[in-house]
Amino acid sequence: MAEPQHAEIIVIGAGIAGASVAYELAPDRRVLLLERESQPGYHTTGRSAALFTETYGNAVMRALTRASRSFLLRPPPGFASVPLLTPRGTLLVARADQMAALQQAFDECSALVDNLVLWTGDEVRSRIACFAPEQVAAGLLEPDAMDIDVHALHQGFLRGLRARGGGLHCSAEVRALAHDGRLWSVDTSAGRFAAPLLVNAAGAWADEIGRLAAAALIGLVPKRRTAITFDPPAGVPVDHWPAVIDIDEQWYFKPEAGRILASPADETPSPPCDAQPEEYDVAVLVDRLGGATTLAVPRIHARWAGLRSFVADKTLVAGFDGSAPGFFWLAGQGGYGIQTAPAAARAAAALLRGVDLPDDIAALGVRAADLSPQRPLLHGPRPAASGGACPPCQA
Ligand SMILES: Cc1cc2nc3c(=O)[nH]c(=O)nc-3n(C[C@H](O)[C@H](O)[C@H](O)COP(=O)(O)OP(=O)(O)OC[C@H]3O[C@@H](n4cnc5c(N)ncnc54)[C@H](O)[C@@H]3O)c2cc1C
Repeated sequence: MAEPQHAEIIVIGAGIAGASVAYELAPDRRVLLLERESQPGYHTTGRSAALFTETYGNAVMRALTRASRSFLLRPPPGFASVPLLTPRGTLLVARADQMAALQQAFDECSALVDNLVLWTGDEVRSRIACFAPEQVAAGLLEPDAMDIDVHALHQGFLRGLRARGGGLHCSAEVRALAHDGRLWSVDTSAGRFAAPLLVNAAGAWADEIGRLAAAALIGLVPKRRTAITFDPPAGVPVDHWPAVIDIDEQWYFKPEAGRILASPADETPSPPCDAQPEEYDVAVLVDRLGGATTLAVPRIHARWAGLRSFVADKTLVAGFDGSAPGFFWLAGQGGYGIQTAPAAARAAAALLRGVDLPDDIAALGVRAADLSPQRPLLHGPRPAASGGACPPCQA
């Protein structure tokens, strides 16, 4: 049998999570990145809505987003030839019957962002020409939310990895893992590899990889989310619109290269797979947009779906497994994996090196215990002693 190719660290999965952590480790470690598809970014990373917003997600994910901002605004020289962030803004909108939820969002989010702006319904309608008076009572603008150039960010990490001496193998599906007490042996469709440390950044497949390693599974639930693009109403300029999000997250839309990108914000549990949009979800979206706005969708230009993968507490998992030696989890990025990638990768690289979290991340209140695969809330609250329902992540 041919000798395996050796590395110090093997990262499984070349989406944004795997690419970013491999990039962070490469300056002082021999890193190999293994990807099943012929193109990195084919799965969730290539299917996102590309938004950066500091008010989205729970406290840990918001902190990782905030800690990513400086990298995204000022990446290292040569990292990307275009800006990674461009101004967009997000606008949460509410009808009269949703005003209590908007007020609650304002109270919560003003603790995080000091320049939120409340718009009256008339102000919303004067800036975003797709609401009738009864469809919007007010809006909450986060002016500094941004569009992310996901392709440039992802390619920047991959290019930087290679420049730092790391390797990327595509069409290399990991099929078996074995540990001999010292090294992991990694059998792939492109040959054998070996390393003392393995990073599991396999996105929706992370628990499948955990199973191959006989690790303690994290109860990951991939959830399908659908998106479409369509033409804006004739003669209505939309490029300056912010991303507009229903306060109850029943739908959102944003400008996208002259068109409108919209989603029903669906979260349908799914096995890990090449997710495809369901007719039903697209129909729900068109119906919701028709009720909530004056936008019509006469023809869909493109449609797609991707898997956003969560553990029960919706915080990403970064840390060594409790039972499989040298097996490190980097999974559960949910709907925030792009905007948190720079800080999450720095945090994961520190944990892999066995050093403290970077000061700027710790200063925002993130502790290694919050990210650990051994944290108590990873699998959600325990079911009641008798007759309690099984939490969805464990079903
Ligand atoms: C519609 C939608 C909108 C979103 N909007 C946003 C947003 O606005 N902002 C934001 O920050 N995030 C957003 N997200 C979430 C974001 O896209 C994800 O959190 C992120 O892409 C996850 O990256 P990943 O690297 O973990 O997963 P992936 O990109 O799926 O990468 C995992 C990789 O592992 C590989 N792999 C799996 N199994 C194996 C194996 N056995 N061997 C080798 N390789 C393997 C896969 O092929 C895949 O390439 C959105 C997601 C969706 C679907």
